[in-house]
Amino acid sequence: MSAQPRPFEEPVYVTRPIIPDLAAFTRHLEAIWDCAILSNGGPQHIELERRLHDHLGDGHIALFNNGTNALMTAVKALDLTGEVITTPFTFAATPHVLSWHGIEPVFVDIEAHSMTLDPTRIEAAITERTSAILGVHVYGNPCDVDAIEQIARRHNLRVLYDGAHAFGTKVRGRPIASFGDATMFSFHATKLFHTAEGGAIVTEDPALRRRMDLLKNFGITDEVTVQAVGINSKMNELQAALGLCLVDAVRPERERRFALAEVYADRLRDLPGFHVPETPDLQADSLQYYCLRIDRDVSPVSRDALYEALKRFNIFARRYFYPLCSDYVPYAARPSSRRENLPVANRVADQVLCLPYYGALGRDGAERICDTISAIVRDRV
Ligand SMILES: *Cc1c(COP(=O)(O)O)cnc(C)c1O
Repeated sequence: MSAQPRPFEEPVYVTRPIIPDLAAFTRHLEAIWDCAILSNGGPQHIELERRLHDHLGDGHIALFNNGTNALMTAVKALDLTGEVITTPFTFAATPHVLSWHGIEPVFVDIEAHSMTLDPTRIEAAITERTSAILGVHVYGNPCDVDAIEQIARRHNLRVLYDGAHAFGTKVRGRPIASFGDATMFSFHATKLFHTAEGGAIVTEDPALRRRMDLLKNFGITDEVTVQAVGINSKMNELQAALGLCLVDAVRPERERRFALAEVYADRLRDLPGFHVPETPDLQADSLQYYCLRIDRDVSPVSRDALYEALKRFNIFARRYFYPLCSDYVPYAARPSSRRENLPVANRVADQVLCLPYYGALGRDGAERICDTISAIVRDRV
C-alpha cells in the first residue's frame, strides 16, 4: 500500500489570479500619473477596449467596473420587464440582476451534458410577461445558441448571455459574443482574464452600445442634459491598466491550464463514478474551470465526502454551482424553483466539483492533487 500523500504546505484554492509583471504595471501607472486622468474613459480605457477585440471578436465592447453592474446596465439598456427565463445553475449575480430591476427570474432546467439552459424546456415557461432569455455559458460551455435564437425569434424575445466564464469561447469559429443581443464578461480576479474587478458587455448593435455608454455614466449626455435614469458603472483607469498588462498573458495561461486538464483527465478518468470533462480545445474554450462530476451511485466516495476530505490536505475545491440559485432564500418559494421543475439541475448540482485550475499550480501540483484524490478513494474502497 502506498503512503498517504502529504497535505500542501499552503492552502490551494480553486483559482489564483494571473499577476502582471510589476514593472510593466508601473509603466502604466506612470502614464496615468503623467496625464492625471483616473476615470471617465481615459487613455487606458480606450486602449483596453481596442485590445480586447483579439479575444472577444469584432462586436462593440463596453467596459464596466464589474460584471454584475455590466449585466445590470444591459438589462436596463434592453428595457427588459416582467419575467426573464434563466438557469438556476449559475452564480447568484445572474438572478439577482433581474430581481434588482423588479424582474422575476423564471428558472428553466439545464441539459445534462453542457449544464446550460435546456432549449427544449424554454417554450413551456414563456408567458405573456416574458421579455427575454438570460442564458449562462457556464464554465465557458456555450449555450445552445442556435436553438435559443430560434425560440427568441418565434416569441419576439431579447437574448442576453451571462458569459462571465466564457472569455475567448468560440462556437464554430465564431466568437461567443456574436450570438444574442448582448453578452456579459466578468473581469473579476477569479476569472481567467481580469482587471481585479471589472467586466464588459459586447454587442453587435451600435445603438445598444451607445445606450449602455449613456447609462453607465448617469445618463448624462452633456453638461446640461441628463437623458436617462443612469447609474455609475464605469471602469476606471487603474482597472484598465491592469487589464492591459494581462491581455497577452491569457494565451500562455490557457496553455498552462491545458496541461493541468491533461493530468487531471489521465489520472482521474478511471476512478469509479468519476466523469472528467472533454479535453479542452485551446482555440475555442475559455478554460475557466475544471469541473469534475462524481456519480454517487458508483463512486466509493461521495462528492461531499471528497470535498471535505480534500480540505484536510489543504486543497479547497469548490462545489460550483451547489446549491442552485433556486434554493437561495430570495428564490426558494418561486413556482419555477420547485425541484420537480429542475430535476437535471438538482442532480448535476449534487455531482459537480471544481478542482484547482490555474497555471501557477503546475503539472506537479495537479499530480499531487490526483495522488490525494486517489488515496481518498482507495481508503474508502
Ligand atoms: C463572476 C460571475 C458573475 C459576476 O461577475 P462580477 O464581475 O464578479 O460582478 C456573474 N455571473 C457569473 C456566472 C459569474 O461567475
